[in-house]
Amino acid sequence: MPDLRERALTRDRPRPQPTLDDVEFFEATARGELRFQRCSDCQTWRHYPRPVCPECQSPRFSWELSSGRGRIYTWSVVHGPTLPAFRDDLPYNVVDVLMEEGVHFQSQVLDCPADEITADMQVEAVFVPLDEEITLIKFRRP
Ligand SMILES: [Zn+2]
Repeated sequence: MPDLRERALTRDRPRPQPTLDDVEFFEATARGELRFQRCSDCQTWRHYPRPVCPECQSPRFSWELSSGRGRIYTWSVVHGPTLPAFRDDLPYNVVDVLMEEGVHFQSQVLDCPADEITADMQVEAVFVPLDEEITLIKFRRP
């Protein structure tokens, strides 16, 4: 088993490894559904997935369907250096999307030149399957 540094330097793209906290998130995206946790007591939406509500500390929650719509909150354009697996993608964007549900989601906007990304730009989620288990969420302009 290669150590972390060796794995990071390969050309293989890092693949999300679902944990107890986010396995339901990845099960949903594999079905073509974007779902976020929502507190059953104070109704606060949250993302990233975690076992306890950051507002009221309740452990009770459900996985609710997102509209998939949001707006660019902030972004960066990566020109390098980066991991070898992403070198051919340079330059690429990394965006923080403020979803309609009020949670922030970090991802990428596809098919959008860097100089066309603007604050408050509307985007919608698209599902990008990596394999049978993992489907990534990226964004496109509607
Ligand atoms: Zn709560």
